[in-house]
Amino acid sequence: MEAQLILKPGREQSVLSRHPWIFSGAVERVIGDASDGDTVAVYSSRGQFLARGVLNWQSQIAVRLLTWDDQAVNASLWRQQLVAAVERRAALAADESTNAYRLVHAEADGLPGLIVDRYGEWLVVQFSSLAAERQRSRLLEQLAELLRPRGIYERSDDEARHKEGLAPRAGPVWGEAPPELIEIREHGQRFLVDVVSGHKTGFYLDQRDNRRIAAGYCSGASVLNAFAYTGGFAVYAAAAGAARIVNLDTSQSALQLAQRIMQLNGHTASPEDYVAANAFEWLRGCRDRGQQFDVIILDPPKFAASKSQVPGALRGYKDINLLAMKLLRPGGYLITFSCSAAITPDMFQQVMFQAALDSGRWVQAIQRLSQPADHPVLLTFPESHYLKGLVCRVE
Ligand code: SAH
Repeated sequence: MEAQLILKPGREQSVLSRHPWIFSGAVERVIGDASDGDTVAVYSSRGQFLARGVLNWQSQIAVRLLTWDDQAVNASLWRQQLVAAVERRAALAADESTNAYRLVHAEADGLPGLIVDRYGEWLVVQFSSLAAERQRSRLLEQLAELLRPRGIYERSDDEARHKEGLAPRAGPVWGEAPPELIEIREHGQRFLVDVVSGHKTGFYLDQRDNRRIAAGYCSGASVLNAFAYTGGFAVYAAAAGAARIVNLDTSQSALQLAQRIMQLNGHTASPEDYVAANAFEWLRGCRDRGQQFDVIILDPPKFAASKSQVPGALRGYKDINLLAMKLLRPGGYLITFSCSAAITPDMFQQVMFQAALDSGRWVQAIQRLSQPADHPVLLTFPESHYLKGLVCRVE
């Protein structure tokens, strides 16, 4: 018999609003036997059926919901969701200029804790919930059958897995092992991706459309690409005719790869334009030296991993943006991002307002940026809207 999970009185609203998580604090009790990884039917305190999902007491997210209809949560539901997610990417799959994108964006595609990224002929998968982990071998088989990749590589090694009580796992799991660097195309630009030890699953696929938009401001400009990683924004800026691009990152290995990628695209890469330094300190140095730029791109890592880190993160965003505003020539552009899910678009705009005020500059927000279509925002799951950006003109 399937176990029934009863919510505390008044805690059904988020489930009725189709939010896919139930926190452990909202649970009154479980009737019947249910171990971690089992399916439970969720009921309100008044006995109304609400949804069905997978239980995990190891996590603060006690239940990951998969359906709000009275249907079974089983392998065929996972398969159905997987097929639908792949079909939603049909337009991207048909676009010859891009062969790297996200096929499955976890909860926002109805597949809690499952990430699947395509890098050319390879797939990289991440199982970051116990719910997804339980379906792992079937999902791998289905991905192989649906997409016929040359190989599948697993990167189940992010911190989310730890919070689910799962040990990290990484390595080739199907077909051929990927080469050290996979060459991909993105809007016609060429990149090299290290899926074994690169960040996330190897590349920041979520900035694809923003890189193209940012390049539109870079023609003839001197550009600072701060938090450059492997130079995604720089490659587009160079193609758009930027006069000079300085890439700044703490990671020496990312900057080395950035130079190779720049050359792969037929651009020169002068070593002095690849600066391994802390962005906060280096920008302060520019201010002291009086060094200026026409365009500054700020794409920092996630400053807030949880709600409790929001105040510190807001200070970080304010500091770095304030510094950048001061380094821009009049009429320059600041293209700035936050990828912390805990920072809402409103909070981010508020921080930018504070920075503008303190900088003494006249700052207009002229374009709002977000995630590309393969990283959908599920409206009932605001946490899925994690990437926010603004293009500001600084007079
Ligand atoms: N813009 C990149 C992605 C940036 S990810 C792209 O388009 O691919 C964030 C990057 O910031 C990482 O490469 C990380 O190494 C770097 N980083 C983190 N903290 C930093 C700091 N204090 N100063 C400079 N770089 C930092």
